[in-house]
Amino acid sequence: MGIHEWIYDSSIAPDLRFKVPHAEKTKTLKDRKMEVELGFDPQLGFKEAQRCLNCDVQTLFSTDRCIECDACVDICPTSCITFTHNGEEADLRTRLNAPATDLTQDLYVSDELPTKRVMIKDEDVCLHCGLCAERCPTAAWDMQKYLYSVTKAGGIKYS
Ligand code: SF4
Ligand code: SF4
Repeated sequence: MGIHEWIYDSSIAPDLRFKVPHAEKTKTLKDRKMEVELGFDPQLGFKEAQRCLNCDVQTLFSTDRCIECDACVDICPTSCITFTHNGEEADLRTRLNAPATDLTQDLYVSDELPTKRVMIKDEDVCLHCGLCAERCPTAAWDMQKYLYSVTKAGGIKYS
């Protein structure tokens, strides 16, 4: 999206999912036609929307722009960025700032940096908040919109 074009609300909301308010059980149990879910009012709907993880925006790292200042490491709220020496995956997973225990999630490992270290990112815990890109002085981190496309269940085929 280009430097600063991507800026959006990157504050982190630690709130758990807000429950949709229900009508009183004493009333709904007596009247089966009564609507149970009342829906969010604007205030609660806004709070729920603030929990958005920006799944359509992804981090993009450029090795050649990184000056290894570690500012992104400092600001990342989930400690999912680590600069360290490369190694075998099983070993690397234990040396990250936040150990990567989900073996089904591949680690992102950058090309080698000038100090011979690599940047490793554990996508499993990234919130897509964009704080790393906001903090980075050289735009080595960028946030880019992308389309998440998964295979949909196909129609039933009859022979
Ligand atoms: S976008 Fe991901 S890597 Fe960047 S600061 Fe937020 S949680 Fe960390
Ligand atoms: S803030 Fe930018 S330049 Fe500094 S270490 Fe992170 S990616 Fe590299």
